[in-house]
Amino acid sequence: MESIIRKAPESFREKPHLDNYDATIARFSWAQAEQLLDGLPNGGGLNMAHEAVDRHLQHGRGDKVAIRWLGKGGGRRELSYAELARETNRFANALQGLGVLPGERVFLLLGRLPELYLALLGALKARCVVSPLFSAFGPEPIATRAEMGDARVLVTTPELYRRKIQGLRDRLPGLRHVIVVGEAMAGEDGVHDWSALVAPASADYTIAPTDRESTSLLHFTSGTTGRPKGAVHVHAAVLAHAVTGRYALDLHENDVFWCTADPGWVTGTSYGILAPLVCGVTNVVVEAEFDAQTWYEVLQRERVSVWYTAPTAIRMMMKLGAEAVKAYRFPALRFMASVGEPLNPEAVVWGLEAFGLPFHDNWWQTETGGIMVSNYAAMDIKPGSMGRPLPGITAAVVSRNGGGGIELVTQPDVDGELALQTPWPSMMRGYLNEDERYRKCFVDGWYLTGDLVRRDGDGYYWFVGRADDVIKSAGHLIGPFEVESALLEHPAVAEAGVIGLPDPMVGEVVKAFVALKPGFQPDEALRRELLGHARKRLGAAVAPKQIDFRNSLPRTRSGKIMRRLLKARELGLPEGDLSTLESDEKK
Ligand code: AMP
Repeated sequence: MESIIRKAPESFREKPHLDNYDATIARFSWAQAEQLLDGLPNGGGLNMAHEAVDRHLQHGRGDKVAIRWLGKGGGRRELSYAELARETNRFANALQGLGVLPGERVFLLLGRLPELYLALLGALKARCVVSPLFSAFGPEPIATRAEMGDARVLVTTPELYRRKIQGLRDRLPGLRHVIVVGEAMAGEDGVHDWSALVAPASADYTIAPTDRESTSLLHFTSGTTGRPKGAVHVHAAVLAHAVTGRYALDLHENDVFWCTADPGWVTGTSYGILAPLVCGVTNVVVEAEFDAQTWYEVLQRERVSVWYTAPTAIRMMMKLGAEAVKAYRFPALRFMASVGEPLNPEAVVWGLEAFGLPFHDNWWQTETGGIMVSNYAAMDIKPGSMGRPLPGITAAVVSRNGGGGIELVTQPDVDGELALQTPWPSMMRGYLNEDERYRKCFVDGWYLTGDLVRRDGDGYYWFVGRADDVIKSAGHLIGPFEVESALLEHPAVAEAGVIGLPDPMVGEVVKAFVALKPGFQPDEALRRELLGHARKRLGAAVAPKQIDFRNSLPRTRSGKIMRRLLKARELGLPEGDLSTLESDEKK
């Protein structure tokens, strides 16, 4: 085992908020943590945008930089908390002017532009439900999610609109307004230019009373089967953002924080927008995609003090070597964290070598709304472990018994499923229109995460793997069914089975097995055509990177493709229980 990274109190540049794990856990209560929030004036309830933006004006942070946006072409825009309050008010007023009602869904499909942040927070003020989409999705995942979520408003760019939305408008009859950011797009039905719509809107807005249990965000995520799942989150989740920003990311008043995740995924919303703003820090937003040198420059020039990134990016930096990092100076940097996929022990230690600081791994998922298990600034790190549960979170390792119940695994070092005791403020409150699927996640007051873990004798959790077939590639969760469906749309494809293959850089790569309809030849030209087809429909982040042809695919008696068997065979692993195998490929 890797040696433990010990934390010496004299090395802390800020006194950690969580300086004693056991003592903090023992005294923590969610009710007391409410003190971190203000609530709307006059007992008006709890609204995420009020906590993230407006209330800071009453705490003397009006002139403080809330968002520092660094554009791709060298552009730079800073918004103080007061400006952010005014600009988000304008967007809330613009929505109201369009007749958009509280509870209606506002979808966001744009890269990391300032308007994304204004729209998200402004729509929350108007008590609309916001659903951010990943702008690198292809048309199919976008249409599926916007259709399922009954998108009323879409904020996007002219380019994304033309490439990915225009051809699908007939699938989205409820989409009344498209607001485009950038060059003007006159003439289209229901299309508004951001500048013409938002700039003239009033900068004054009073958030109406907001029930803390009302829906705020809709985050789509993937499961093994069926369509994506729309995880429903509520305004009360902001309490978990405040607590985790403080304890897991150790955010302090004077921090300059940078979360590298895109708001199209839950990390980019909870920690790329909400948590840092709720904690009142300066939040750096970098529009450009990953590039090691650019990232080092940002860390140095912007004097980032707390950095939240992801294993794939860390591994890419590792490949370029610690020397490349040492050309830069990071005197302000004091805490580094990582999430989204397993963080290998070497990466944790490499942080020390390259930056003089270890990476602190933490674990959570779309459904949990916030960090649940974490390594903390003042807690020793066991490299390779995701850490220990947050204050206010009770975690357990459980095994499912055949009868639909669970048993708690009490001994250390035994594999089982990670379960979290319900409730906590940022827990999802439903899967959109899928009550049964939602209910199945809970047994005896525990939420079952679908992740296999182990807890050691010191209470540290270690990630073992997924209990289901979803794929994590470069930190993006991909549902095999969505990829299979896109492949099946091609006239040559009779059957498709999709798995994740282990990859040293991006965690897993998407691989598809395809059986063809009679009359089609399994040759290189068709393979390329299918790869291109999938890429066009799904977008590069989701599409398979490899396709193999098979005469037929292994199926269970109920007709399901046995992805596990495909994977075992591909990796030369034991094939496991084959009792449900019905038909098989002719190998
Ligand atoms: P998402 O809902 O897209 O955020 O993906 C959540 C899933 O990513 C989890 O259920 C895990 O399978 C994986 N994951 C997140 N954080 C970690 C971590 N620190 N270590 C290992 N896997 C992780």
